[in-house]
Amino acid sequence: MFNKESKYKFLYWLIISVSAGILLYSVYNITASRVDRNLFLLLTAVIIFSSFTHLQIPRTKIYLNVSDVLIYLALLTYGGEVAVTIAVIETIVSSFAFRYGGVRIKTSTIILNGATAGFSIFFTALIAKLIFGSLTSVTSGDDLSNFALLLCLIGTTHFAASSAVVSIFTAIKTEKGFFKVWYENCLNALVIYFVCALIAGLAVKALYGVGTIAILVVSVISFTVYFTYRRYTDDVKLSDEKAEKAERERAELAEEHIEELQTHILQQEQIEKELRQSREKFKFAAYHDTLTSLPNRNQFVEQVRAYLEGIRIDKTFSFTVLSLDLNRFKTVNESLGHKTGDKLIVSVARRLLNSVRADDFVARFSGDEFGIILTDISNKEDVISCIKIINEHFKESFEIDEKSIFTSVAVGVAIADSDYKAAEDIVRDAEIAMYQAKSRERKFEIFDPAMHANAVSLLQVETDLRYAIERNELVAFYQPIICLQTMNVIGFESLMRWNHPERGLVSPAEFIPVSENTGLIVPMTLWMLKESCRKLTEWSQMSPENENLMISVNLSGKHFVEDDLVAQVKNILNEENIEPNRLKLEITESAIMNNAESAISILNQLKRVGVQLSIDDFGTGYSSLSYLHRFPINTLKIDRSFVSAMENGSENGEIVRTIIALAKVLNLSIIAEGIETIHQLHQLRILGCEYGQGFLFSRPVPSDQIETLLSDKNRWKNIIPHQEIPLMRGKQTDKVLHLGELEN
Ligand code: C2E
Ligand code: CA
Ligand code: CA
Repeated sequence: MFNKESKYKFLYWLIISVSAGILLYSVYNITASRVDRNLFLLLTAVIIFSSFTHLQIPRTKIYLNVSDVLIYLALLTYGGEVAVTIAVIETIVSSFAFRYGGVRIKTSTIILNGATAGFSIFFTALIAKLIFGSLTSVTSGDDLSNFALLLCLIGTTHFAASSAVVSIFTAIKTEKGFFKVWYENCLNALVIYFVCALIAGLAVKALYGVGTIAILVVSVISFTVYFTYRRYTDDVKLSDEKAEKAERERAELAEEHIEELQTHILQQEQIEKELRQSREKFKFAAYHDTLTSLPNRNQFVEQVRAYLEGIRIDKTFSFTVLSLDLNRFKTVNESLGHKTGDKLIVSVARRLLNSVRADDFVARFSGDEFGIILTDISNKEDVISCIKIINEHFKESFEIDEKSIFTSVAVGVAIADSDYKAAEDIVRDAEIAMYQAKSRERKFEIFDPAMHANAVSLLQVETDLRYAIERNELVAFYQPIICLQTMNVIGFESLMRWNHPERGLVSPAEFIPVSENTGLIVPMTLWMLKESCRKLTEWSQMSPENENLMISVNLSGKHFVEDDLVAQVKNILNEENIEPNRLKLEITESAIMNNAESAISILNQLKRVGVQLSIDDFGTGYSSLSYLHRFPINTLKIDRSFVSAMENGSENGEIVRTIIALAKVLNLSIIAEGIETIHQLHQLRILGCEYGQGFLFSRPVPSDQIETLLSDKNRWKNIIPHQEIPLMRGKQTDKVLHLGELEN
């Protein structure tokens, strides 16, 4: 079949060639006798009109010309051949006029227009001739109705021929139906053809009959009709343009709305996606630990719950819950920083995964606490061998940030059985066992019910301790500190006691750790500070000799890092009106070494307040000598363990000797704790230890007994035999000063 282009081309060339033939025939048949002055006038008029007076048929691309009137005039007066020639010339001229006026019109279209005009006029003339014979006879005759019929025929035929050709081409081009195109684009123009024919007819009658006046009248009528119609077409055009503009704006608005809608939909989709992702994230976070991506405690407990169900259904199934806690993790975190601590946790997680079987379940609870479920294991020996394997994996160091870090785990074991009602209970028991292992410094501990009782009583302590301050249950005991040269008392160390309503005096060893874990240590220490200062004032008022007495108060590592510590100390000194240098704060070596850099800053702030500072339990906390000289302290307190062991072996004696020598070098005073025997006292005096404290002199006692002690200041002088033991100093201490030795 023909496609659109070839169809168009075929018809194009067909009409061009037919019209060319018609034009040649017409020009050839114009006899010289017919060419007169009027014809030239007519031609000139046609050319002028066709250039300037064209009308566009509204809503189409079809243009009409007033010169059509003149073409009809030519047809009626000069015959078909002349009319064809003039029509072709007129069309081509007017087409070029359009192009000149800015209308885009192709040369091929101009030729097609010319051909269409020639063809349609030729066709009109042919039909008119076939029906009416000689046109000039009808024109010049008196039969007006015949003449009117002729005019109608000319208008109709010309309209039919030209609209048919135009519609055919438009239909092919736009791929619309022929009749649709014809109806929409051409039908409106019919009236114009009639009007043109009518005007032409009037003009002919005027020419033949009435003369110039009539021509004028006809011309006026013609122009009136022309301009009225032109006004009409302009109006239509304007309203069309308006409608078009409104349509365009509506389309633009619609487009905008669509765009908005699309962005809205996109946003909505994005929000939905984010919601979905965050829901998944939340779900993951609810059951996983973010740092290691291991399951978290929640999921661990769920798993234990499922296994507990399993035990009830299948009696052969068994499992064991392990609770693990890293040893020394706090030290790593505080000395190497949290980033390193995090990396260590991640590596530990990996190692734990590698040290268990694929069926086992590893989770991170929090901080340095992990949990493991050993599947299908309930026999103690099997559990122990699993723990051994885990321990094996911790023998090698962790290489983190170019540092080798050694750590180990304390493991609590709870073997599941069907007596357990809730998953949480098994996990809790494993944790109790783990705390037990930690406190006993054992690698693992298997839960037994006695531990639970312990834990419960610990909880009781915690609860009771909360009321201890407000119920005035705290008591300060005081232990004298003696100058080992003069055997005079130089001050006291305050030691806390808890006067429990049911249990009587409770040892600080039991309640201080609990108070540290709950934060109660802060108000308790403040109470101790106040109470001790108040007593010191009281004692000072007893006698002028007592005005130089000092009081030592223990400061917990937990309190030491609190922001307001310095201000609190300052306040109490102010309130109790005590000179700052009469108060000594004792901080354990390990509390300071946990975070040496910040400790230096806090110690400096305290120093600025004017209080004295002492390192307690010295020798147990692996002090690095590089730090020691930077601590702004006044005193070292040799730990009781070295003093008590002094008699047993020379090595402990050496340590004490070294510490004393070190203190001398650093210009620090030294206090030996826990002196229980005369022998220890003698040795310490020989080593040049300045001060001492211990049961040999006095146990810690309540404040009222201190008043008695102070009234008999010479009581300790009798301890020393009458022959005074010379105190050894100097050379000997220099000899033992091997700093490296202490650092190891
Ligand atoms: P610490 O600061 O090293 O206190 C010295 C401990 O040694 C005291 O035990 C004291 O009674 C005991 N002691 C003194 N001389 C001898 C002796 O010759 N032989 C023996 N075996 N022990 C002796 P205490 O009062 O039971 O206190 C124990 C620990 O509790 C203290 O050790 C201290 O670390 C802590 N503590 C006591 N009171 C407070 C306090 O108010 N605040 C803080 N943070 N800790 C306190
Ligand atoms: Ca102390
Ligand atoms: Ca101590």
